Amino acid sequence: MEELKMYIAGKWVDSESGRRFEAHSPATGEVIATLPEGSREDARQAIAAANANKHKLAGMTAWERSRLCLRIAEVMESRSEEMSRVLAMDQGKPFHGEAKAEVASGIEGFQEAAEHIKWLETSVIPVAAPHKRVFSIRQPRGVYAVITPWNFPYNIPIEYLAPAMASGNAVVWVPAPTTSVCAVKLAECLVEAGVPEGCFNLVTGKGPVVGDEIVAHPGTDAVGFTGSSATGEHIARRAAGKPLMLELGGNGPTIILDDADPETVARAVPVGCFFNAGQVCCATERILVHERMHDAVAEAMASAARQVKLGDPFDPATTMGPLNNEPTAQKMDRHIADALEKGAKVLAGGQRAEGLPSALFYQPTVVDDMTEDSLLNLEETFGPIAPIMAFKDDEQALAVADRCRLGLVSAVFTRSISRAFRFSERLKTGIVCVNDHTDYWELHIPFGGASGKRSGIGRLGGKHTIMEMTDLKTIAVDIR
Ligand code: NAD
Repeated sequence: MEELKMYIAGKWVDSESGRRFEAHSPATGEVIATLPEGSREDARQAIAAANANKHKLAGMTAWERSRLCLRIAEVMESRSEEMSRVLAMDQGKPFHGEAKAEVASGIEGFQEAAEHIKWLETSVIPVAAPHKRVFSIRQPRGVYAVITPWNFPYNIPIEYLAPAMASGNAVVWVPAPTTSVCAVKLAECLVEAGVPEGCFNLVTGKGPVVGDEIVAHPGTDAVGFTGSSATGEHIARRAAGKPLMLELGGNGPTIILDDADPETVARAVPVGCFFNAGQVCCATERILVHERMHDAVAEAMASAARQVKLGDPFDPATTMGPLNNEPTAQKMDRHIADALEKGAKVLAGGQRAEGLPSALFYQPTVVDDMTEDSLLNLEETFGPIAPIMAFKDDEQALAVADRCRLGLVSAVFTRSISRAFRFSERLKTGIVCVNDHTDYWELHIPFGGASGKRSGIGRLGGKHTIMEMTDLKTIAVDIR
């Protein structure tokens, strides 16, 4: 069992208190490593180091930072097999089907940031005064506090770390406690690639302790947070006045209109429900289907759920691993019980799987006749569940979709181009997928919640993150 350390001020260190916590494999329950349980003082030391050294990264040219990102990508590439194994062990996702793909995508994250930073032009601004020449430049904000969840323990941090390194921001990163082994592996890549000492810091421990410290401390200039809506809203208050990127929860409504192609629906929708065991912010969490298509869709979903192979993340036959943690499994239990109480019925699954080494394996579940007032419709579940509800007309579908206070990603299935546009424009989500599941995502696409919903603030993705992570400075030169 490895005794891992965190990375502060250019050194691998224990917590100042000496306290540690255990990392468990969600598939077996075994302890796979121990990590330092950071304190507020540890977080403050990381913030001090970032401030003392931020000029090193900020002072590099865009070309130098671009090369740094490419070096990080190369180190990740050389360690990709090991990183994929750690991901499957620490998070629980299937090694062959999902973990390797996440590492490959993370490598691309650094490669893309390396490209984007080179072409970030700013403007020369025409002005009224004849003796003024005015232009703008983009500068790093300073020290970023970054806090990330456990569902994509490499990719989500890389959504912040790659543009931060490219744009010259120093970082203090607090990862989710249940996937902190992955965080250490990713940190090792940044260190090996030569990120200047003090410009990147990893503090492991409890979110409400070390996470809260880096959010609220005056030594951090801006915050990037991905996680639940409740924590995001708390963080927004604690970070009041700082620039914020908040990527929060979703409850992806998928609307299947009466003219949808049944084969496209049967191929796409189950992926949105069951990929990463449904633990995806953009997962398909509600299937709203026209009553004429209802029976065919219900049958297709139940059949897809029965084909999922639940099991050991390292078995090549496995298509779904365990849930990452007990609170997520308990939320599944709670949401299914609430739906059944309100009149829904289970078509497939519906409970934890038996005969597997841990209680975190959940049967892929299909629930039919979900009611509008059930938790499945109103809140995010974040597990492998496909709740179905039939509707009579387009207006009813839109009203049900909008009743949830989250608005991240939605989908609409139709063969009519005009209905596709009408639904895309009216759905109150940051992203709408037409004729595909809600899990479609690429690194450079602007990703985030709709205003007025509880799914976040700002847009992550490619150049959009670089814009969010830089200050636009205007320089006015008098030439008299
Ligand atoms: P969470 O909010 O419980 O925790 C997220 C992170 O915040 C963790 O690292 C946690 O330790 C830390 N944290 C907890 N309390 C804190 C506090 N008071 N101050 C500072 N940090 C604190 O979320 P989770 O369960 O880890 O992740 C699942 C959630 O993340 C889901 O709601 C999901 O939709 C969301 N998510 C959103 C996106 C997106 O891009 N919109 C992507 C992935 C996940």
